[in-house]
Amino acid sequence: MKSFAAILILVLILLSAGCTSHPEPAPPDISEYLTPIDSGNLSRELGPVPAGMLTPAEEQDILFMQEEEKLARDVYAALYEKWQIRAFLNIGEAEQTHLDSMTVLVDRYQIESRISNERGVFSNETLRFLYDDLVARGSTSSEEALRVGALIEEIDIVDLQEAMTRTGRQDILQVYDNLAKGSRNHLRAFVNVMGQQGISYTPQVLPQDEYQAIIASSAERGRA
Ligand code: MN
Ligand code: MN
Repeated sequence: MKSFAAILILVLILLSAGCTSHPEPAPPDISEYLTPIDSGNLSRELGPVPAGMLTPAEEQDILFMQEEEKLARDVYAALYEKWQIRAFLNIGEAEQTHLDSMTVLVDRYQIESRISNERGVFSNETLRFLYDDLVARGSTSSEEALRVGALIEEIDIVDLQEAMTRTGRQDILQVYDNLAKGSRNHLRAFVNVMGQQGISYTPQVLPQDEYQAIIASSAERGRA
């Protein structure tokens, strides 16, 4: 009788060992927050380059936003490698198109950009420190990684809003406006993924009412 019980326990152990791979829950669908990539004809869409020189502030903003889009792309690439959360892969691809849009502005105004394509390399010191800090924070847990994602989108929205106050040029405003749309969509996507995991998120940079308004409205259509 004792040996029967022992065999039964052994069988149960073996059975449970075979069942350890629980079916993966389906990843949340964030496709509505990601509009198709269409950066090919952006420069045509923007029309002829307006006459006149950029102000130093306009030039600085373009260079900074170009590298800030790279910051998002690079952090998401690092966090995807760490956690394999699909949102980092999908949103990271959108960041490449944002970076490409900024490069269109850099090229059309013939600004000298010292951007590096190498991950984690930044000519702007603030962005370099931010990259190190955010990757470190996002590497502590998958929850922190998603919080870092949402934070990057918040920072992006605020920086774009500020840059928009420093230019009156329609072509630049059009690019910034599309990037901001993308960032609001990405913020919605990260908050959505966190919500599905029971993680509640409070804004880290945006005013509460502005954050609530973004989250309450649905995905926006844009070029990226
Ligand atoms: Mn972006
Ligand atoms: Mn984004």
